[in-house]
Amino acid sequence: MQSTNINALADEYLRLAYHGLRAKDKSFNATLKTEYDTNIGLISLVSQDVGRVILNLVNNAFYTVSEKKKQRIDAYEPTVWLSTKKVNEIIEIRISDNGNGISQKVVDKIFQPFFTTKPAGQGTGLGLSLSYDIIKAHKGEIKVETEEGKGTSFIIHLPLHAL
Ligand code: ADP
Ligand code: MG
Repeated sequence: MQSTNINALADEYLRLAYHGLRAKDKSFNATLKTEYDTNIGLISLVSQDVGRVILNLVNNAFYTVSEKKKQRIDAYEPTVWLSTKKVNEIIEIRISDNGNGISQKVVDKIFQPFFTTKPAGQGTGLGLSLSYDIIKAHKGEIKVETEEGKGTSFIIHLPLHAL
């Protein structure tokens, strides 16, 4: 466990993922919208692991918005949101996208190891199952809200003092 500035950590991994994708594919772009609660202060967590969760979630978000962009929908602006918020003694991290959303049939399986809808070579299906385990190890919760065709939000709750 390390005393961590979650806002700085989240922002770093968001930009790392974004610039990594831009370096591989110059045509990739997305609008990033961030909102960080500056009242959070330092929190105790395994920063490498929680950083990995954020990386997994933002990479999934970038993937779906870039897939949707290929559909050439009029005035579509690929957008990824990342925010943090302290509510009572819980830290909420929210990662949202305006990508393709997830169907009801699929959403029940996304946290299972090796479940992927990506073409061979593009996904291992391990990102969300690993993320789930990491958040559980921090006594937190990870939830998904999604609407097909509209987009998806992943919401992480980390208890401040249970750790
Ligand atoms: P992978 O990214 O390797 O497929 P994950 O465990 O990260 O594995 O995700 C599992 C599946 O969940 C994805 O293949 C996709 O079907 C779905 N998924 C995850 N995040 C999103 C998202 N933001 N929008 C749409 N589908 C998603
Ligand atoms: Mg993934």
